[in-house]
Amino acid sequence: MTVLRFDNVSKQYPGGHVALSDVQFAVEPGEMLFITGHSGAGKSTLLKLIHLAERPTRGAVLFGERNLLKVRGRRIAMHRREVGVVYQDHRLLTDRSVFDNIALPLILRGMKRGEIGKRVRSVLERLGLGERERALPTQLSAGEQQRVGIARALVGEPRLLVADEPTGNLDPTLSAEIMALFASLPERGTSVMIASHDLALVKRMRKRVLVLDHGTLVDDISPEDLADE
Ligand code: ADP
Ligand code: ADP
Repeated sequence: MTVLRFDNVSKQYPGGHVALSDVQFAVEPGEMLFITGHSGAGKSTLLKLIHLAERPTRGAVLFGERNLLKVRGRRIAMHRREVGVVYQDHRLLTDRSVFDNIALPLILRGMKRGEIGKRVRSVLERLGLGERERALPTQLSAGEQQRVGIARALVGEPRLLVADEPTGNLDPTLSAEIMALFASLPERGTSVMIASHDLALVKRMRKRVLVLDHGTLVDDISPEDLADE
């Protein structure tokens, strides 16, 4: 079943600015794709519609069978459990340990402590953060901080992970490392969507690329097309 579908989606912000117009695409299970385009092209807006930080003006966003237009009230939080979000500035709580930052989404949904411990340690191991669970975010390197942000987004086992400029604050070597980490996720059935203005980095990943230009989807490049370049 398709994980996500945008059906002729437009978004106009109050004040009149059109951030997306008539955007159409679908994401399949286990697919990894990039959203690229200039600053202001609409990348963040597109991702915000998926985790309901914004609503479309026209068109429909479908998450599996769920029409997000109909997701209101308490259901918003339930929907967000199935979409992991990674931010450029990772938004970690600076006064909480690595463990506590990652555990937070599970605590909020009322999971038992034993189960939380298991899940958090499993994701820490997977992301190479096993030794760092007691550290505070400020004691970590930039790359480690971003890995904690990814761990927090993954710990709830979302069907889809969305990341907005996740390497925006990292040097090229660390950026490549974090991208390789994202690329390993689809093997576990999680689809991944990454917004990045860094076209060179995106092309090197040889994944599907959606290109936005002033809110219009102008290209949908397949990995095969990139292999020819
Ligand atoms: P990108 O992530 O590609 O840089 P954005 O989705 O952040 O693009 O923004 C797309 C356009 O919408 C930009 O022109 C931006 O200024 C505008 N925009 C974004 N958020 C808002 C908002 N809350 N209110 C008004 N305009 C906005
Ligand atoms: P992001 O990295 O998420 O795109 P931005 O720095 O573009 O964040 O924007 C920060 C906040 O300001 C966001 O909530 C965005 O919706 C809002 N915003 C961006 N552009 C505009 C704008 N032109 N007018 C009003 N709000 C905006």
